[in-house]
Amino acid sequence: PPEQLPQDPTKKTLVILGSGWGSISLLKKLDTEDYNVIVISPRNFFLFTPLLPSCTTGTIEHRSIMEPLRHIIRHKKRAVKYYEAEATKIDMQKRVVKINDFSDIKGSVSETEVPFDYLVVGVGAENATFGIPGVKEHACFLKEIGDAQQIRKKVMDCIETATFKDQTEEEKARLLHMVVVGGGPTGIEFAGELHDFFEEDLRKWVPDISDKFKVTLVEALPNVLPMFSKALIEYTEKTFKDENITVRTKTMVKKVTDKNIDVEITQPDGTKVKESIDYGLLVWATGNAVRSVVRDLMNQIPAQKNSRRGLEVNDYLVVAGTEGIWALGDCSATKYAPTAQVASQQGNFLARLFNSMAKTEAVEVELYNLDQRIQASKDEEEKAQLNAEINIKGRSLSKIKQLSPFEYSHQGSLAYIGADRAVADLTWFGGAISSATGGELTYIFWRSAYVSMVFSLRNRILVLTDWLKTKAFGRDVSRE
Ligand code: FAD
Ligand code: NAD
Repeated sequence: PPEQLPQDPTKKTLVILGSGWGSISLLKKLDTEDYNVIVISPRNFFLFTPLLPSCTTGTIEHRSIMEPLRHIIRHKKRAVKYYEAEATKIDMQKRVVKINDFSDIKGSVSETEVPFDYLVVGVGAENATFGIPGVKEHACFLKEIGDAQQIRKKVMDCIETATFKDQTEEEKARLLHMVVVGGGPTGIEFAGELHDFFEEDLRKWVPDISDKFKVTLVEALPNVLPMFSKALIEYTEKTFKDENITVRTKTMVKKVTDKNIDVEITQPDGTKVKESIDYGLLVWATGNAVRSVVRDLMNQIPAQKNSRRGLEVNDYLVVAGTEGIWALGDCSATKYAPTAQVASQQGNFLARLFNSMAKTEAVEVELYNLDQRIQASKDEEEKAQLNAEINIKGRSLSKIKQLSPFEYSHQGSLAYIGADRAVADLTWFGGAISSATGGELTYIFWRSAYVSMVFSLRNRILVLTDWLKTKAFGRDVSRE
């Protein structure tokens, strides 16, 4: 990488919280020459979440979908500082962020404050559990790399324990029952990956379990994938039936213990019945909840009083009731779904906004200097020349200032459903043309779409190599 400019005390400090879809899209497009940029995140990498379900079974190795933050910031024009820490409090009055290093290795200082002129909050969301007892203690989630690794390990542990000498048939059945709660895209994609793992590898290498391994998907609503069209919902449910994945809709989980879940099923006549379902592995994928640092900020701002899903923002992503604080992605509450597509477009928008704000400031300084020269000048000809220059600069300033508000352009929804099939609701030309497809061709499209989206060339090659490795040798069935 080329030499970088050092940070400049005369420039404004822009603090960016998080290293996910929103913050990294902003950072990649931001002209860092204009600001002293500081990134704060407990994760020193960007995670390509759409391929995270594939890591739970080893179809893709986890490092292939991680892009080191250090690679990204080292290529910026002006040096960017990175602190591996969590923001624990945003102090609106003092305009500082309190940060804490919660990682295993700590120095003598692991808690401090970072002052900011401008702040972008992109901390994402945490897993929703709705306060259901036992979920946090016993279920696995699927949001971070560590979650995928834990699932991969537990699947193999369940299998090896099920084949333990003298294991009872009943216990075998429990250990080999993989239960997924939540029929949104996360739950659906994970169930699909698990099916592939079983059909393509486990059945072959551990034949003793082949008649007992079972996947069940539990969903409280009447159908799965509510954001997809009716035809694709039916296609997914039919494919799952073919794959022997049991889909239990209108089934709400009420309580979780270490070995079973209590559910409440709504019958066709509206009555409710209770049931207990035994499991070996439980994966919880019921959507998003607000992080505590975001909730705390919301509590400091009267304009955020009625917001539930996250930080309320205006059309320019400014946090309502603040100045110089923006929010994007899953921690913000907008009319859009909390997706990577939305977060990355918001990041690109904020980069344009900050780049044009810096240009505005530069032109304003030039205009001020020209004006000072006019005041000081005695020569009428020079004054006329300076005035003409002011006019031209003034016109370019109003052009720069004309940044239109954020508008989301939906490219479509895409989900992998196992057995080399995917579903896609695609939109072209801002919704003027849309199509819903499902099947093997869609799967090929799904793969190429993701490969072209995975950011760096290095990651693209890693992902392609993993896919080829899986095709050639199958998935690794050792327990780490
Ligand atoms: P994130 O990407 O979650 O990033 C948040 C960042 O903030 C992280 O770096 C985190 O470490 C950091 N952070 C957390 N707490 C703090 C703190 N206190 N201080 C500082 N930093 C903090 N969307 C799609 O559009 N298409 C898909 O195919 C798709 N697939 C998905 C698959 C899975 C398994 C999951 C879980 C999600 C998927 N999504 C998909 C949704 C998508 O990942 C999210 O909408 C997206 O990540 C939101 O981006 P974000 O930047 O708001 O948050
Ligand atoms: P989600 O919010 O989309 O779905 C969660 C599901 O869990 C809901 O259908 C809900 O009814 C169900 N649920 C909630 N509580 C329950 C309970 N107690 N018992 C049974 N079911 C319960 O969550 P997600 O799938 O994690 O997705 C989160 C966001 O990420 C969404 O915006 C989604 O679009 C996005 N995402 C997109 C993709 C993709 O495009 N391929 C993949 C993953 C995630």
